[in-house]
Amino acid sequence: MSIDGLPPLRDVIERHGLMAKKSLGQNFLLDLNLTSKIARQAGDLKDKPVIEVGPGPGGLTRALLAQGALVTAIERDERCLAALDEIASHYPGRLKVISGDALEQDFGSLTVGGEKPRIVANLPYNVGTQLLLNWLLAEPWPPFYASMTLMFQREVAERIVARPGSDAYGRLGVLAGWRTEAKIAFDVPPQAFTPPPKVTSSVVHLVPRGEPLACDAVKLGRVTQAAFGQRRKMLRQSLKPLGGEALLEKTGIDGTRRAETLSVEEFVALANAV
Ligand code: SAM
Repeated sequence: MSIDGLPPLRDVIERHGLMAKKSLGQNFLLDLNLTSKIARQAGDLKDKPVIEVGPGPGGLTRALLAQGALVTAIERDERCLAALDEIASHYPGRLKVISGDALEQDFGSLTVGGEKPRIVANLPYNVGTQLLLNWLLAEPWPPFYASMTLMFQREVAERIVARPGSDAYGRLGVLAGWRTEAKIAFDVPPQAFTPPPKVTSSVVHLVPRGEPLACDAVKLGRVTQAAFGQRRKMLRQSLKPLGGEALLEKTGIDGTRRAETLSVEEFVALANAV
């Protein structure tokens, strides 16, 4: 038995035949000390609603439950459901498992008792960035969630928290910086996962801003896509499809600058001028 009274995760994986599938981005965390550290990063979870994407065999799920959370978990791999059922029986009424694809889930409808859930997940790498974009572009704003504590490849984490002037700064950094305060909480080495991925991972913690600068998210998405789509080109060239010179004139931004030098505020100004 483990500290939480449930069988060790290695036994669970073996008993339920949960050999990791690359196509589902499966890299499991089996160390309950590490999953507890991730859960703690989400704050005091006592009786707080949490949404977890991709619980797999349930390592992070167990840490969330042990810290008192009320968990709703969405898992695409039906092989994991029996293992998750065992955890649900151990914590009666505290774990609800939804079998399905997180990319098709209406997360806004998953509120528990009117309180905003925290999103906590060791995300499947193949859908992690798309899920984050969906949550960053959620409407209405402030969004349906209280915070996000998410595992990404280190390189993606750096793009999320990037500031102007760095190579990692791009569309993801502008959108995350516009609507959230984002920070890298800590790194997780490849050997912490089974099987180990090729690269280091990082846990990112994002808290929605109550009042981000007023801006249409779709327009901001278009401006950043155009500007960073040709990031080595000057703005007067890269923004041409959106009316380049006129936009730059309206906002007073120098057309010889490149996308990576613009602050989030300047991108917002450009989007508002489209
Ligand atoms: N949370 C577990 C852990 O930390 O050990 C597993 C994490 S593993 C990186 C990603 C999990 O997401 C897998 O269980 C995988 O089956 C699941 N998954 C992959 N794509 C998914 C999707 N579109 N919707 C929901 N779950 C998905």
